[in-house]
Amino acid sequence: MDLTQEKVENFVCENCGGTLKWNIAKKQLECGSCHTPYTLQQESVIQEHPFEEYHQREQRTEAFPDETVVKCNSCGAEVVFDRDDTAKVCPMCGATQILPQKQVQGVPPDGVLPFEIDKQAAQQKFKKWVRSRWFAPNKLKTVYQEGKLNGVYIPFWTFDTQANGEYHGRGGKEHVREDKDGNRRVEVRWIPVSGHVGKFFDDIQISASMGQVNEVVDKVLPYSTQTKLHGYSPMYLSGFSAERYAIPATQAAETMKEKVRRELKRMAEEDIRSRGFDRADVQHLKLDLEDTTYKQVLLPAWFSSYAYGKKQYMYIINGETGEVGGQRPYSIPKIAAAVVAALALVGLIVWGSSEKTEAAVFATPTTEVVYQQEQPANTILMKEGNANGLVWTRKGHN
Ligand SMILES: [Zn+2]
Ligand SMILES: [Zn+2]
Repeated sequence: MDLTQEKVENFVCENCGGTLKWNIAKKQLECGSCHTPYTLQQESVIQEHPFEEYHQREQRTEAFPDETVVKCNSCGAEVVFDRDDTAKVCPMCGATQILPQKQVQGVPPDGVLPFEIDKQAAQQKFKKWVRSRWFAPNKLKTVYQEGKLNGVYIPFWTFDTQANGEYHGRGGKEHVREDKDGNRRVEVRWIPVSGHVGKFFDDIQISASMGQVNEVVDKVLPYSTQTKLHGYSPMYLSGFSAERYAIPATQAAETMKEKVRRELKRMAEEDIRSRGFDRADVQHLKLDLEDTTYKQVLLPAWFSSYAYGKKQYMYIINGETGEVGGQRPYSIPKIAAAVVAALALVGLIVWGSSEKTEAAVFATPTTEVVYQQEQPANTILMKEGNANGLVWTRKGHN
């Protein structure tokens, strides 16, 4: 059955009056009672917005129109509850100090990636994950049996951008020399280099959650935002909670820029090495982002939490991939026992093969570069290990 925009607002099945919900197994919207399938007529191409216009949009619209937002005083998340949910705890951290509050202005979601992993499957993934964590306290191993997983749509910003970088740095060529005493040394001759690197980035995913939530979400990335997004409709949220974004796109864009900068720096180093240098050193990178667009997407996650000692720990299962991540309390006695065992083992190995250890030092010398401010080619002092221990060697110009 096709649904127009007006009918969507009611969430009601035309056939029997039941509530419409997203069926995870069938990947479709349907009536929760008579299972009549529905498709959204207004489902359109998901729009990317020019980043420069972000402020205007933020002041104009509400993130979740007509829904009551509840703020958790413990983890800081602002959550829109599932309409049928009568529980009065935070679905993410389990805290009871939650307060309804008036919505501030904000940008509405553009897209949603509906749940693909249902609660039961998520439970199984979590169970497996917990069992593989030998260092966790035993109490954690029973927590999955309590069945307190909550489905929450978490907010993300995605950015597209054409990044261009102009870099200045130097490339180094290595020469291995051996003196009359058999001391080997690596000399590096540096030459100034510069160049351009560029790349188009599609859907850089930056979490719009804060603190605890942000920390665990980071462990279960990525999501398939390029291929699996649907145009946003509140219909998808039926049966789940949703978090309102805590970090505005302007702030997320700064994190995005850092990611882009790291990637372009890596590309610049590769560019230097591709010119026949053994070493690359990018000293300055001028970054320029063009045609930057953004959108807000809601991504599926199952949350669970439990108290251990005085702290509340949070766990997450990616609702698309089933990837599990979480904050981990460590069992101190278990770790202490493992450290003692490891030390004993290391002691045995070193004691049993001291000759081999010495040879290994020679094979993989630790090097440290010291620059001498001379032109045109810098002379390098290398610190290098050999069978006699660490020695300093000096070399003049050729
Ligand atoms: Zn129905
Ligand atoms: Zn909370």
